[in-house]
Amino acid sequence: MRADIVLLPGDGIGPEIIAEARKVLDETARLFGHEFALEEGEIGGCAIDAYGDPLPEKTLEPCRKAQAILLGAVGGPKWDDPNAKTRPEKGLLKIRKELGLFANLRPIKPYAALIDASPLKRHIIEGVDILFVRELTGGIYFGDSRLGEENGEEVATNEMTYRTSEIERVVRVAAAAAQKRKGHLTSVDKANVLEVSRLWRRTAQSVVEKDFSDLNYDVVLVDAMAMHLISRPKDFDVVVTGNLFGDILTDEGSMLPGSLGLLPSASLGEGGPGLYEPIHGSAPDIAGKGIANPLATILAAAMMLRHSLDLSKEADAIETAVENVLNAGHRTGDIAGGGKSIGTVEMGELVLAELQKVAS
Ligand code: NAD
Repeated sequence: MRADIVLLPGDGIGPEIIAEARKVLDETARLFGHEFALEEGEIGGCAIDAYGDPLPEKTLEPCRKAQAILLGAVGGPKWDDPNAKTRPEKGLLKIRKELGLFANLRPIKPYAALIDASPLKRHIIEGVDILFVRELTGGIYFGDSRLGEENGEEVATNEMTYRTSEIERVVRVAAAAAQKRKGHLTSVDKANVLEVSRLWRRTAQSVVEKDFSDLNYDVVLVDAMAMHLISRPKDFDVVVTGNLFGDILTDEGSMLPGSLGLLPSASLGEGGPGLYEPIHGSAPDIAGKGIANPLATILAAAMMLRHSLDLSKEADAIETAVENVLNAGHRTGDIAGGGKSIGTVEMGELVLAELQKVAS
């Protein structure tokens, strides 16, 4: 198959980790007989430097036409001035909004070889396999906000709004994913307090009753979910929730496997390209040192092949290659636990070598 893919390295370690993912995509195309046309663009701080805009039209245009986008990370101290006209993160919010990427998928599945890197006990973490589906383009992050004064003191307000259609479409994505997994869907809300959550709960319930009645479906309050995620994470399969709760719970969940450097994510819309990225940031503290872990980005590339290009065999091959490299004991600094570690390029090369073995 032929596919147009846009690579957006971004800032900090972004260019280093995208370079390794690019090699893996090129090698996958060669091994499986595909043609991936890879085009690079600028987003975040580097785009502010070059164009004064964290997501210039020059970047957005090819993204609209592509089948999929692979992003490194954006941001860094250089662009942190709170009085600056714009910020790198605005590029991320804009690309999600412009491409209608309303569902963020984050798999949380610890690797057997790294179970001891988890801050949780082995018996709690072994066997965990959760897919978070977070609503990404609505809720409080996109609501009106005001800063004013009342009775001589400052008052700040952020509005949280969800429409039925916004809830329905993300619950559908989560429910369809649950059907392909263990058939268990959990919806997380705060319906005991928030009106928005009461609409969320009613809507999710009716989508499941109408079209996904085969699922084992339950609802959990967000505060309880924060506890369950630590005490009994094995009990969950697919978890769907709104933007704010999802932001917090997915970061909590990302700690279960013990390293940020191993977790990919996908942001999907209705038709159009999907956006794939590691969940970690631009790690400015280690940028340019050649020690960043490229595996989350390589795994994001595998997710991209599976979800946007329907290339499951190729995605499986990359994921198996990564698992084999970890099983063989190779580690970048972030997952070495103080032991022997290798650099970004060496890790990428090991994955390539393993990919060749898996595909042959
Ligand atoms: P971070 O994820 O960049 O780094 C947190 C810690 O994890 C750092 O010590 C870093 O060195 C380490 N780390 C992260 N990824 C790693 C990797 N692949 N290999 C090895 N170690 C890794 O989070 P932060 O420090 O809070 O944020 C840094 C910058 O990234 C900020 O400007 C922030 O706004 C931005 N950020 C961007 C995104 C994104 O682009 N999606 C997400 C989060 C943060």
